[in-house]
Amino acid sequence: MSEFIIGIDLGGTNIKVALFNLDLKLIVEVRKSTEAQNGPAYVLNKIIRIVEDMMGNLNITEKLIYCMGMGIPGLLDPYEGKSFFLPNFPGWKNIHVVNEMKKRFHFPVFIDNDVRVNLYGEWLYGAGLNSKNIILITLGTGLGSGIVMDGKVMYGETASAGEIGHMNMYREGRPCKCGSSGCLGRYVSAVGMVNTFIEKLNKGRNSMIEEWVNYDNSNIEAHMISKAVSDGTPTVA
Ligand SMILES: [Zn+2]
Repeated sequence: MSEFIIGIDLGGTNIKVALFNLDLKLIVEVRKSTEAQNGPAYVLNKIIRIVEDMMGNLNITEKLIYCMGMGIPGLLDPYEGKSFFLPNFPGWKNIHVVNEMKKRFHFPVFIDNDVRVNLYGEWLYGAGLNSKNIILITLGTGLGSGIVMDGKVMYGETASAGEIGHMNMYREGRPCKCGSSGCLGRYVSAVGMVNTFIEKLNKGRNSMIEEWVNYDNSNIEAHMISKAVSDGTPTVA
């Protein structure tokens, strides 16, 4: 009898692995740095090791695992279990993640886009509960979105529905790790907001935030901008 579900969030900074019971109650969560610069094989092995350690520590055998689901950024084929491209992962191209996991584990493994996984969570348990039409927007280092329309999660022809972060907005815009430039996510995101802010300072505008970072603009972070806004003082003058 299976008793547990494993959920994995593969991010550019951290790998988060969580174990849930079948009522989706969180039992344990482990967070380790991704170290994506070491290449795909290293990252995949690291995920396997974290899962093995977690199961070992709790004395859980493979038979007790119902399935494992992984949220992965970038372009992928959820039906094939293949991840095509991850912008912040050097050398990561056409990796058959599900097959790699199945070399080690014998329970079912699924992958999907990280934003869409987030959307499923909000739809089934969070802000979108009982809604038939939802748009979820994620703002972090990049910009993403996921859509539920008429009670169905949208995938589209290439399973990239909602990938708004790479819409081209400016022909000669900021370079993007996708290889293009002027992508919307380079402007509308936490990183984009910081870059716009620094551009304004470089053009001669002033801000109290400059004092907070001892006039080293490379230390400006998005949370400082929101703090300045909520303090009620002019953020840029
Ligand atoms: Zn892009």
